[in-house]
Amino acid sequence: MPQTPRTGARDECGVFAVYARGEDIAKLCFYGLYALQHRGQESAGIAVSDGASILVSKDMGLVSQVFNEPRLATMQGHLGIGHVRYSTTGASTWDNAQPAFKVTPAGRGLALAHNGNLVNTAAVARDLGPGGQRCSTDSELLATLLAGHTADVCVEDALVGVCRAVRGAFSLVVMDEQTVYGARDPHGVRPLVVGRLPRGGYVLASETSALDIVGAHLVRDVEPGELVTVDERGLRSRRFAQATPSGCLFEYVYVARPDHRFAETTVYAARRRMGAMLAAEAPVDADLVIPVPDSGTAAAGGYAEASGIPYAEGLVKNRYVGRTFISPSPSLRELGIRLKLNPLRDVLEGRRLVVVDDSIVRGSTSRQLVAMLRSSGAAEVHLRITSPPVRNPCFYGIDMATRAELLAAGLTIGQIRDFVGADSLAYLSLDALVATTRRPKSTLCRACFDGQYPIPVPGEQAAAGKDVLVRPRAGSTDRPPAGVQA
Ligand code: SF4
Repeated sequence: MPQTPRTGARDECGVFAVYARGEDIAKLCFYGLYALQHRGQESAGIAVSDGASILVSKDMGLVSQVFNEPRLATMQGHLGIGHVRYSTTGASTWDNAQPAFKVTPAGRGLALAHNGNLVNTAAVARDLGPGGQRCSTDSELLATLLAGHTADVCVEDALVGVCRAVRGAFSLVVMDEQTVYGARDPHGVRPLVVGRLPRGGYVLASETSALDIVGAHLVRDVEPGELVTVDERGLRSRRFAQATPSGCLFEYVYVARPDHRFAETTVYAARRRMGAMLAAEAPVDADLVIPVPDSGTAAAGGYAEASGIPYAEGLVKNRYVGRTFISPSPSLRELGIRLKLNPLRDVLEGRRLVVVDDSIVRGSTSRQLVAMLRSSGAAEVHLRITSPPVRNPCFYGIDMATRAELLAAGLTIGQIRDFVGADSLAYLSLDALVATTRRPKSTLCRACFDGQYPIPVPGEQAAAGKDVLVRPRAGSTDRPPAGVQA
């Protein structure tokens, strides 16, 4: 799928679910996904049920490109789930867009949407036999496994069985014709929250911003190792595994929206603290603090406030260019970072800059950024990064790079500084970053920074240095048929 080149960490997926009588379910899903668009821009999908049958509609593209009023108007019901996707396993094709839909042996429909990444995909697919081997993503594998489990037990019990059988990161929303389910892996790697609508009914979502946009108030997180069921009788909870929390630290640094509310802090407040702690750990004599928008914005404010150095916006983001499906021509592609960020010469010229960014992954973007700032007249460029060096790949749903592609995996900080061309470079320490979350270190996954993987990664995956994909499905296409009906 043509996309503007992206070389940093990529977002993964967002999930949304709702059960409510007397509401326009498809539109609630639409707006919920709209708020989660930053988590995935390759495809979007919604499934709704009126209690008798499930209708799935999904396509490649942004939420606002996939859905319009007439399409949503055909989707009537009182329960639904939705998904926005950035592919971490499987190709970016229509087939792999979610929700995944399966028919159970009893002829009932099941729709499933997944955020995260499993680590025992290959083993589960092998155990499933030919049906598993045909799955092209771990999410489709989950749906296939779930449908199979319902041969002997009800959907809720089947879901408990599936959650116990798979390993890795999963925040799931699932529906049959009458019930919505939500489940979070025992480590709670990816977020999943429960909200309540003012006129009754429940919402599940990856981030609290998706509750806010539909007017739901936050009830609580779905706990690690918990399955929630929402139907006519309300919301029920069931534990399928003991919680061993390892929430993704990178959600705080980059992935989640600044207005997402974790139990202990908002992401915005955590990022302000990251900037303030970076100013304390890595002070520099400079004229201006500028953010790399958007994820560096709150931290740059924190750095400026703590250091007393004035804050300014020296880079204007071309907000939608990275989210277009129009491939840049070769000459445009050469512009690289200029497609996304435009420097403000009158702000930058002659100034000694502190430039605050969230992370350095492969390093090519940072290198282009520093060169662009210098060509815009910056006198000095001091790069300050609100996370430690990324030295290890993520196997739990953030597409960073393979180990071999990670700049910090093979270089010292001095060598990285020289590679990106900055006058100075400093990273936030791991302990300081952890402190900004207000959570104990032991409850956070920090593996991309310190190599301590909370969920063991099978040898074949670890050796490959990144995800081992389920077999790509032959004949996959990004020429979408119009919706799927069941
Ligand atoms: S490895 Fe890094 S990006 Fe992946 S879940 Fe852990 S903290 Fe998050």
